[in-house]
Amino acid sequence: MRKSVVAIVGRPNVGKSTIFNRLVGERISIVEDIPGVTRDRIYAQAEWLHHTFNLIDTGGIEIGDEPLLVKMRHQAEIAIDEADVIIFLLNGKEGITAADEEVAKLLFKSNKPVVLGINKIDNPEMRDTIYEYYSLGFGEPFPVSGSHGLGLGDMLDQIVSYFPQKEMEEDDEDTIHFSLIGRPNVGKSSLVNALLNEERVIVSDIEGTTRDAIDTNLTVDSQDFVIIDTAGMRKRGKVYEATEKYSVLRALKAIERSDVVLVLIDAETGIIEQDKKIAGYAHQAGRAIVIVVNKWDTVESDEKAMKNFEEKIRAHFQYLDYAPIVFLSAKTKKRLHTLIPVIKLASESHANRIQTNVLNDVIMDAIAMNPTPTIKGKRLKVLYATQVAVKPPSFAVFVNDPELMHFSYKRFLENKIRDAFGFIGTPIKIFARRRQ
Ligand code: GDP
Ligand code: GDP
Repeated sequence: MRKSVVAIVGRPNVGKSTIFNRLVGERISIVEDIPGVTRDRIYAQAEWLHHTFNLIDTGGIEIGDEPLLVKMRHQAEIAIDEADVIIFLLNGKEGITAADEEVAKLLFKSNKPVVLGINKIDNPEMRDTIYEYYSLGFGEPFPVSGSHGLGLGDMLDQIVSYFPQKEMEEDDEDTIHFSLIGRPNVGKSSLVNALLNEERVIVSDIEGTTRDAIDTNLTVDSQDFVIIDTAGMRKRGKVYEATEKYSVLRALKAIERSDVVLVLIDAETGIIEQDKKIAGYAHQAGRAIVIVVNKWDTVESDEKAMKNFEEKIRAHFQYLDYAPIVFLSAKTKKRLHTLIPVIKLASESHANRIQTNVLNDVIMDAIAMNPTPTIKGKRLKVLYATQVAVKPPSFAVFVNDPELMHFSYKRFLENKIRDAFGFIGTPIKIFARRRQ
């Protein structure tokens, strides 16, 4: 299912990131300390009424040292390319500037729904000043105050009124959506092309849209897949497409829609810092992950080389210990046939649901083997566990006191669950909940 995307555009200092943070709230907290993942967010999930949507702060995409007007034009173009609805934010204390006029022209031409937010209207007396903004031609201006959290509800009502009545439903449940992420030149396009040219692969149709990644439907041994191809996008050659933040944004959008994410590593050059950052995003999103070591043709490919490379990956991506590794060459197609079965397996794990009684047998056996810890004289008591969600599989463990369930005991239970049920390729989540 694709969520609607909303982008905020506006001059520097009008309050874009303040509004962004307000709308996103604290929903997305980075719980784990994954090295290399930047904390400044430009893309995050927000909620209003029964709508969940994704929000982009175009101000966070630095395109370089450009004059204001050029910068503004690029931000507007990104919003037009990426979003379903655009928030055009102005500073209510400053009125309409030449740069605002410029942005307005571009947005107007795009025919995308635009909602005018007039920020820094911190008290009701200032509301009288907003009428001049009607002249921009986007209808009613919404007075808001990012720093005081005022007026956001009315603006959000207007935004969600532009969303499609039903969230865009995509195919049926059984179709596996996957995407390929990795740094430039790792071989994403080559791998997509190699897969599509495989003998057993039936490509039914290729849907290209100007805005989204290119989706390709394919069938292998009667299993339907959709490849969400972000790599193909890049070939359009717009200036901002070369910026790192923009490629991150695209990767995040693709991850969002995927069941399985293939994290590509270049066997020829080895693992670099950027790979870790990219893998971190996929892990945080809770998607199934397969690590693909591409360009395996460039390596002396015996068992030992594979083992060595695997050890390196495990050392660099410790938090991805659940992700299977596939070695292949998109160029020579060597070992290419091993990929699809692993994607399928990871997707099955991601959607796997364990019966409560079977789960509890495993948990109780685990506890018998490794008694629960005692912290400050108080012993953790585990009463029972149940799976509360899939994609990723999430388990609630009911205990006497959640404070007593430390990370290491959670990890122990996770390992026992994995030993019993596999869950190859998917992260799993364990929550401790209080039950007397
Ligand atoms: P951006 O460059 O558009 O992302 O703007 P920021 O969100 O960084 O905000 C720029 C400045 O405006 C900061 O000093 C904010 O504290 C301030 N600001 C943001 N929203 C409001 C508001 O509603 N009222 C007032 N008075 N100041 C605000
Ligand atoms: P992308 O930027 O991730 O989409 O990477 P491309 O698919 O455009 O590939 C980048 C370069 O790597 C191209 O020159 C490809 O020919 C080369 N390449 C891709 N896959 C392989 C492979 O398996 N082996 C070798 N030796 N080269 C490859």
